[in-house]
Amino acid sequence: MKKSISALVLLIAFTSQIFAQKTHSPSPITKVDYTYRINDAHCHYVDFVQETEGIGVLLEQMDKAGVDNIVLFGLPVTKLWTDYDQERPIYYDDNDAPVYYYSFTDVILAEAIKALPKQQKDRIYPMICGFNPVDKNGVDHIKRMMKMYPDLWVGIGEVFFRHDDLSRMTYGRNPTANDVSMEPVYEFAAEKNLPIWIHSDIGDPMSNKPKFLYEMEEAIRNHPKTKIIWCHIGDTRNVVVEGLPEITTRLLSTYPNLYFDLSWVIFEQVVAPEGKLDSVWVNIFEQFPTRFLVGTDNIGGFSDYGKTIRKYEVLFDALTPETAKKLASENMFELLPKRSGKNN
Ligand SMILES: [Zn+2]
Repeated sequence: MKKSISALVLLIAFTSQIFAQKTHSPSPITKVDYTYRINDAHCHYVDFVQETEGIGVLLEQMDKAGVDNIVLFGLPVTKLWTDYDQERPIYYDDNDAPVYYYSFTDVILAEAIKALPKQQKDRIYPMICGFNPVDKNGVDHIKRMMKMYPDLWVGIGEVFFRHDDLSRMTYGRNPTANDVSMEPVYEFAAEKNLPIWIHSDIGDPMSNKPKFLYEMEEAIRNHPKTKIIWCHIGDTRNVVVEGLPEITTRLLSTYPNLYFDLSWVIFEQVVAPEGKLDSVWVNIFEQFPTRFLVGTDNIGGFSDYGKTIRKYEVLFDALTPETAKKLASENMFELLPKRSGKNN
């Protein structure tokens, strides 16, 4: 009897310990106390040789950085390691070797997401990018991916058009946003309500003039039902185009289907040069609070993830709390198609 009582006591103690552990165990998503939680609207799961630190590392970094959800792309091109290069290039600008379109990038991303538990899967908003934009068959790849992975994809991108040195490294004809081959993609995107993220340099470092603006403007104007996110406001390395604030304001006033993301060099080169915010841009964000997104533009490596996403802190502090919240998190959800059973 005594033995069975002590066994019972032990059992109760053990059960209550389990219960205590269960109730006090941390949630899988660690909430970090930032003033503004962020949704990262621009990140690549893989780099220019299609490698990645992994989805687990990315999710861990998102937790640490106070990022709840993420728009995640593969990378549509991959770098050639040629016979004549002793050192393996990783980034496109590591050497002059060409890059080629790599459709499997979408499968790499889809498979990584598929393997996640639902709670983590729901935080990721994947996009299809692995097609050649000057191929009229490009849209078929998008349709194929949607058939292979139903209910997964929520958009298209990042599609590369003019992209500094990357353009001349890419095999084949250089793609532009107004290329006739893109027509079926824009139309399909509108039909299925898939927003499309586009990289298209507005100018080049030779002139700092908006030489290529007309290409994007034609695509935006001719497809009013397609939601287009012009990444980095068309800015690229070493380019600060004259009159960019006026161009941005005019485009936003004219085309309700246009959005911009502030990822990559636009922030350091234009919005906050040398860490000092330009008030002209702060006013534009206040004037069009629903049309801008923030993002890391990390590519496959996530060691500097927190630093990259939290660089916007200085901007959030300068905005009204309502606008800051929109840029930090709300605009991304407003833009994305609703998914059943998801939090947007
Ligand atoms: Zn990018």
